[in-house]
Amino acid sequence: MCGRLFYLQYLTEKTQMRQLLPYVHSPSHFLGCELNSVHKLPETVSLRWGLAFPDVYELGMSYLGQKVLYSILNEHPRIWAERVFAPHLQMAGLLREHGLPLCTLESDTPLNRLDILGFSLTHELCYTTVLYMLDLAGIPFRAEDRGEGYPLIVGGGGAIVNPAPLLPFFDCFVVGEGEDIVLEMSQTLLRAEDDHLGRSDRLNALRSIPGVLIPSRQGRSVPGPSSELPEVERRVMTDMDRAKLPPDPVIPFGKPVHDRYTLEIARGCSRGCRFCQSGMISRPVRERSLETLSSSLQKGLEQTGYEDISFLALSAGDFSALDSLFRQSFELCSHNQVGISLPSLRVGSLSPAIMGMLSSLRRTGATLAPEAGSERLRRVINKGITEEELLRHVEQLFSLGWNGVKLYFMIGLPTETEDDLQAIVELCRKVRQLGRKKGRRLRVTASVTPFIPKPHTPFQWEAQLPLDEVNARLNFLRELFRKEKSLELRWHDPQMSQVEGVFSRGGTELAAALESAYHAGDVFTSWQECFSPEIWSRVFQENAIDEALLLGPRGETDELPWDFVNSGMSKRFLKQERARAFAEKPTPDCRYHSCRQCGVCSDREASSLLERQAAEGSITHRLNRGSRDQEETASGPLPGRSQDLGTKGAYIRLWYAKEGPAKYLSQLELQTVTHRMLRKAGLPLAFSRGFHPQPLVSFSRALPVGVASQKECLSVCLRHALQETDLLSRLNAWSVPGLRFFEIETAAGRKLPNPARERYLLRLLTSESRRVELRLAWSEAVRRERLPLVRRDKKNRLKEIDLRPRLEKVASSPSEGLYLVFNWQEGYISPLTLLQTITPDIGPQEYELVKQDQPSEESAWP
Ligand code: SF4
Repeated sequence: MCGRLFYLQYLTEKTQMRQLLPYVHSPSHFLGCELNSVHKLPETVSLRWGLAFPDVYELGMSYLGQKVLYSILNEHPRIWAERVFAPHLQMAGLLREHGLPLCTLESDTPLNRLDILGFSLTHELCYTTVLYMLDLAGIPFRAEDRGEGYPLIVGGGGAIVNPAPLLPFFDCFVVGEGEDIVLEMSQTLLRAEDDHLGRSDRLNALRSIPGVLIPSRQGRSVPGPSSELPEVERRVMTDMDRAKLPPDPVIPFGKPVHDRYTLEIARGCSRGCRFCQSGMISRPVRERSLETLSSSLQKGLEQTGYEDISFLALSAGDFSALDSLFRQSFELCSHNQVGISLPSLRVGSLSPAIMGMLSSLRRTGATLAPEAGSERLRRVINKGITEEELLRHVEQLFSLGWNGVKLYFMIGLPTETEDDLQAIVELCRKVRQLGRKKGRRLRVTASVTPFIPKPHTPFQWEAQLPLDEVNARLNFLRELFRKEKSLELRWHDPQMSQVEGVFSRGGTELAAALESAYHAGDVFTSWQECFSPEIWSRVFQENAIDEALLLGPRGETDELPWDFVNSGMSKRFLKQERARAFAEKPTPDCRYHSCRQCGVCSDREASSLLERQAAEGSITHRLNRGSRDQEETASGPLPGRSQDLGTKGAYIRLWYAKEGPAKYLSQLELQTVTHRMLRKAGLPLAFSRGFHPQPLVSFSRALPVGVASQKECLSVCLRHALQETDLLSRLNAWSVPGLRFFEIETAAGRKLPNPARERYLLRLLTSESRRVELRLAWSEAVRRERLPLVRRDKKNRLKEIDLRPRLEKVASSPSEGLYLVFNWQEGYISPLTLLQTITPDIGPQEYELVKQDQPSEESAWP
C-alpha cells in the first residue's frame, strides 16, 4: 500500500489496542509502522497470518526467523503476515482495564480474527507467555476448545524438538526449518478457503506436508502418551541459496537486543559437541554461496541503513570461505562505516588476518566458549580445543586492542569432578596473566550455566544435576573466584535451569502444570525479575509432576517423550557418541573427515533417516570450499580504507514535521531512525573518530514523547557538498508515517541554537463544557504572578521553581483550543510539565499538543 493511503488509514483506525498509545510505556513498540513494515488492504488478501513471538518487542525484533517468514509470506499477493509480540505487563494491565484484545502491530487487528497464528518457540521458558498472549487475545488455550472462527494455532522453532508438553494447546506444529513449510501450508489453506472447508478439514489437508504435525485425531485433542503420535520428520532446507535472506527486514524502533542487519551465512554444525542440541538437530552443514551473500549484503545495507552487520551461523568461524567473505565485505562496510560482528566463534577459528579486519571496524565484545575448564572434560564433550589454542586466541585479541574477554562454561557436565571446576578458575587466571605480561589490566568474566541434557543429543540419557548439587558446585566456584582480582564470576539461575530441564525432557503430563503456572501468575519465565521458583514448585506438586524423575537418568532402551520427532539423528549414532564421551575419544568434524553415519545425509554410506525428503533430493553438506580458505590466505594483505570518513566538507539543515504515529518516537528512537534514513539515502555522511564512530548529526531540543511538532530541525555534517536534488522526496519515501521532511538548506557549519520561544497549539478533544473549564485554567494561569512547581533536582533535593516566566502568552482558538507561547530563557521545562501543573486532571485522551513554530536564528519571531 502506498505510504499516503496507509497514513490516512492509520490515523482513522484507532479502534483497538492502538487507542492505548497515549497511556503506554514505550508506545513506539505498538505503532507497527516501522521502516519496511508491510501494510496491505485487508480486503485484497485471503489468508491472514499473525507471526507471534512470545516475548517483548525488543527480543522479538532481534529474532531472524520471524523476519524471514514475514518476508516470504508477504511476497504472496493473497497473504498478509503481521507481527505480534507479548506486551509488557503495564500494557497487559491497560488492555484488561479497557476490555481490549491483543492485536497485530500492522493493522491493529484482534488476534482472534486472523486465519492462522504462528508462535516462534525458541526455548522452553516461553511457554507460559504463549498462554498469556492467547489469554489477552481471548483465544481458548486448548485446541479442543477452539471451534470454527478461531485461528489455527501453530508452533515452530528450536524448542519443537520436544513438543510433547505443548501438544494439547496447538492445532499444528512445524518441525524443522520453516521457509518451505509456511508456503506449502499457506497454499493448502488458500485452496481450503476457496473450497469453503471447515476447521477440521483444513487441519486434515495440512497433514500431508512433511514436517507438519497435527496432534489432534478424529477431531479431538491428544493429551495422551506422545508415543501414540505418528512420527514427524524434521524439515531441512537442502540448498541455502534457495532460502530467502530478507534484504529489507523491518527496522525496529527503540533498542532491540540485536540491532543490526543479520546475514545468515550458513546453517548446521558438524563439529559434534556432545552437549549441543542446536548442532545435533541442524545437520548437515549448508553454506550460502559467496555470490548470494555478496548481493544480499549490498541490498541489505541499501534497504536498511544499518550501522552494524553480523555474520550468523552456529559456528561462523568454520565457514569454509570466511577469509574471502571478509575481504569482499570489508570494503563495502568500511566505506560506509559499518561494523561486522561474528556472534558465535569457536576458539582458534579465526585467522589473524580476519581478527585484524574485525578490530579495524567498529569493535564488539570478545566472547569465547571453552565450555569446560579442563582438557579432560573438553575431550568428554568433544569440544576439540586445547588450552594452548585458547590462550593463543586470547593473546591475539589483546594484542589487537581488546581489553576484556568473556568465557562461557557449563557446570554439571557428565563426569565433572572438583578438579574440573578448579580448572575453570585456573584457566581464567592464565587468561588474566596474558594481559599482565603485556603490562595491561584486563577484565576476565567467567559466565557459568548449569548443564541440561537435551533431547536428540548423545547426553539425552544423562541426569541433570539436582538443585542442591548445582548450588554446592556454584558455591565452590564462588569461593574460588572471591579471592581473585580482575576475575568476575556470573551465573545463570540454577532454579530456572531446573524448570527448563523439566520442560525439555518431559511429556504431555506437563500441560496441566503449565496452565496452573500461568493461572498462578507466571509469565516471562526467563526474566530473572519475573521468575518465581515458588510458583513452579507448587504447581509441580499440585499436578503430581516428579521433577527428580524427569531430570533423572534414562535407560538407553527407554521410550522417550520426544521419540516421535525424527530429527535425523539415529539412536545408534547417539549411543555410539555417548560411549566415546565416556572413553574421552574425539570424533572429528564429518565435513572434512569420514562420515559417522549419524542418519542425516543421503549421499554417504548409510541412507538418511529423513526418508521423505531424501526421496526428493540429496541431503548433504554443501560448502563453498573443500577446506577453510582462511588457513591458506592468512598472510594475505588486508584491504585498506580508500577514504577518510571523518572529513568535514559541508553542512546542511533539514526541517521536518513529527506528527501522527511519529510523535510517539522518543528522541533516541528518532535519532536512530533518522541516522538510518540518511544512510539509506546515500548521503556522504561525516563520522566522529574513535572506536565507535557516529554520524555527525545534531538534533534540536528533544520533544516529549506524544507531543507533535510541525517544525523541527536537524543539522548534518557531510564529507562534501550535496549534488542530489531529490533528497527530500527520497527521504520522505522511506520515512515513518508522520515524519515528513519539507525543507533542506545549506548551513554555515554549526548546529542551530535551540530557540528561546516556541508556539504550541493545545487541541482540546473533549466536550464543550470541559473545553470551557480547561481554557479558563490557562487564562487564569497566565494572569497569575507566580506558578510554583516543587520537584526534585539532580541531587534528589526538593526545589521550588516558578513556571510563570515560561508561560508567555495564551490565546484562544475557538475551533481548536488554545495557542500557547512558551519562553525558555529561564531554563527549559517539558511542555507536558506545564500542562500537568496548570491542568493536573487533564487525561491523555482529552488533548493533543502540537508545536507549531520555532524561530530560526536568522528571523525574529513571532
Ligand atoms: S550423515 Fe555423516 S556426513 Fe552427514 S552429518 Fe551425519 S556424520 Fe556428518
